[in-house]
Amino acid sequence: MPEAPPDEEAALHVEGLDVTYGRALSALRSVSLTVPHGAIVTLLGPNGAGKTTLLRAVSGTLRLHRGAITDGRIRYGATELDGRDPVAAVRAGVVQVPEGRRVFAGLTVDENLRSGGLGLGRRRPAQITEARDRVFALFPRLAERTGQAAGLLSGGEQQMLAIGRALMAAPRLLLLDEPSLGLAPQMVYRIAEVIREINAQGTAVLLVEQNAGMALSLADTAHVLEVGEVRLSGPADELARTDAVRRLYLGETTEATETAEATETTESAETTGTTEGQGAA
Ligand code: ATP
Repeated sequence: MPEAPPDEEAALHVEGLDVTYGRALSALRSVSLTVPHGAIVTLLGPNGAGKTTLLRAVSGTLRLHRGAITDGRIRYGATELDGRDPVAAVRAGVVQVPEGRRVFAGLTVDENLRSGGLGLGRRRPAQITEARDRVFALFPRLAERTGQAAGLLSGGEQQMLAIGRALMAAPRLLLLDEPSLGLAPQMVYRIAEVIREINAQGTAVLLVEQNAGMALSLADTAHVLEVGEVRLSGPADELARTDAVRRLYLGETTEATETAEATETTESAETTGTTEGQGAA
């Protein structure tokens, strides 16, 4: 078995990234972030903030959408990824699962999975079998449906297949774009479990999610993007406690936030031994 790479060799660094579409629309400005080896990092933000654009820039798929990096750098370990194509990213160990569970509907589950490792060139059959076994261990339902057309799977199963196909390329960093979108709560829970499991197996994850509660519970670090810029960054559990994130992304009403804050104030007053009477004096 190959030795685990030193941390720096498997860390994603995005530095001062500017992206435009069609040479006019500025989608990202001076975006910097790091995904350390083995970490889960999440990107939150409203529609149109630039989250998908960042994933496209990292995975080399920006050009397919008429986008271009106009400034900044993207580096995965020693490999420069800015301006490269998707094959270069996959070869470096960086694989994206695009939004919208794009599977090849007319191909079988097995054929979809096989397409996952194509960018890597010739691989030993044992490597392919190993990757497929990993996918089937994570998603037993896919193992039961290898011959079925992907278009006939349920939405949740198609999402599993889309993730499974990405895993066939044995990524060291998985880019996940809204994996829970449109799925029933039980399936969202299952997807969250799977992300945790994939990460525990040593794969880092950069997760774009509109389900901020799920994303913050999974991630080590979170960044909030707004109109193309990083507005907030920090440990996910700390960000989950900030007023802005609770109100804007965790769906808490102002009243609920105020009540929670009042509770916190009371608790801290209790721990420091102050009383209401003293506070009022
Ligand atoms: P969402 O959650 O809605 O997908 P997002 O945060 O992922 O939002 P992006 O999809 O990255 O945001 O979009 C960022 C900006 O770039 C938006 O203003 C969007 O309209 C624009 N944009 C995205 N893709 C293209 C494209 N192919 N051509 C032109 N503009 C685009």
